[in-house]
Amino acid sequence: MVQDSKTQVLLYNTLSHKKEEFTPLNSKEVSLYTCGPTVYNYAHIGNLRSYIFEDFLRRMLEYSGYKVKHVMNITDVGHLTSDADSGEDKMLKGAKREKKTVWEIAEFYTEAFMQDMSALNLLAPSIVCKATDHIKEQISMIESLEKKGFTYTAGGNVYFDTSKLSDYGKLAGLDLKAEDKSQARVAVDENKKNSHDFVLWFTKSKFDDQAMKWKSPWGEEGYPGWHIECSAMASKYLGDQFDIHCGGIDHISVHHTNEIAQSEAALSVNKWVQFWMHGEFLVVGKDQKMSKSKDNFLTLAVIFDKGYSALDYRYFCLGAHYRKALTFSFEALESAKVARLKLQEKIWALHELAAGITLDKLGFENLSESAKGYYTKFNEQIFSDLNMPRALAVVWDLLKDNDLSDNEKYLLVINFDSVLGLRLDSVKPAPDVPEEVVALAEKRSVARASKDWEVGDKLREEVKKMGYKIQDNPDGSFELIKN
Ligand code: AMP
Ligand code: ZN
Repeated sequence: MVQDSKTQVLLYNTLSHKKEEFTPLNSKEVSLYTCGPTVYNYAHIGNLRSYIFEDFLRRMLEYSGYKVKHVMNITDVGHLTSDADSGEDKMLKGAKREKKTVWEIAEFYTEAFMQDMSALNLLAPSIVCKATDHIKEQISMIESLEKKGFTYTAGGNVYFDTSKLSDYGKLAGLDLKAEDKSQARVAVDENKKNSHDFVLWFTKSKFDDQAMKWKSPWGEEGYPGWHIECSAMASKYLGDQFDIHCGGIDHISVHHTNEIAQSEAALSVNKWVQFWMHGEFLVVGKDQKMSKSKDNFLTLAVIFDKGYSALDYRYFCLGAHYRKALTFSFEALESAKVARLKLQEKIWALHELAAGITLDKLGFENLSESAKGYYTKFNEQIFSDLNMPRALAVVWDLLKDNDLSDNEKYLLVINFDSVLGLRLDSVKPAPDVPEEVVALAEKRSVARASKDWEVGDKLREEVKKMGYKIQDNPDGSFELIKN
């Protein structure tokens, strides 16, 4: 928590292409919407990089003194594997692969995602909302677009007419006139009047075996297009205008562009969202985006299997600014692991010396001038468009500085950890727990994360036989207690 109530927070806004001072529309509460996962497979660590960036943002805002109302959707409707309105239905693809229903697939991968979130120490959103629970809201938004003349029906489907908006494409800086002249973009869907038009509601499914379908004013059976859910749910929970909307950079040119178009048209506002923030990609090899559809992806379970924890990955992500691509390799993850454990050991050692003092108890004014200096430096970095690599460097610098007392070091780092989210205040495992017991307990943690209860229970029994009880914490971590 910051002492100075007039903290200036600068955030890069994709809409204006520059850093702007952030002030929320409502001075008491920041409204934040983050696009959630499409639950047809495990989230890959690239997806998770985006959620980690959003978690740093949320934690920084709370640290700076704001309350944050954070809404995240779960895309559980079958959408298409391509950004255009073509390709394969993602949920159906998952259902066929695993011989389950689309509903079972959605439930399973939603739960798996929640496990990933808690392993990574991501703060739970204030509201998690599923697209399939908000069909009524989506239909009513499309109806209002229809009444205002922004739609047309072609081939049985309802489309958004992008030519009705003078500023369509402003987020991505699309130059529609130039595109039309050069005819660079070939319309994939011949029902479309303009190449950027998109489907709001499908009644003519491309898929004979479409499982998720609902009754609507446009036909007995149909389903929503893939952008409308975010507009409908964001306005339901955050109002007609709100502060920040996030996602990965791949969402800028289509998904978020279309969210803006339909929301501003339906809600009659000209700035639906004040700040648009986008995280750069996690890449593998030679700048190749990690992607679910390319099957080149790694999940947290793979990371666990190779002996790394979710917090090692979180630490690894601290190493690059969110607007820079980050290249994944196991060598780099290994360095992150070593550094994180070193940091954790230092904090455990300082904890023994700091004897239960908190920064609140000590009082900020009682810190030495050097300690105050580090406090200011850390804040400057996080408030300057989330410069997490530099903020982390401040932590290492202060730990090395002999001008600071052990108490001050401990108090500052624990305070900063409310933004870093590395669980540095976790309890140190008892020194006499044999390595094999810790290894078994960690294996069980992996089994639990992938919902393999049977293996998990067996491992718990083995640990018990070796004289230890595993106590699970609500955040996904565990402690080992002697029987
Ligand atoms: P999806 O489940 O495909 O809707 O993606 C969930 C989030 O992950 C979105 O915000 C995407 O922009 C983001 N994302 C997808 N691929 C990557 C990647 N390789 N690196 C970082 N973020 C990604
Ligand atoms: Zn979205």
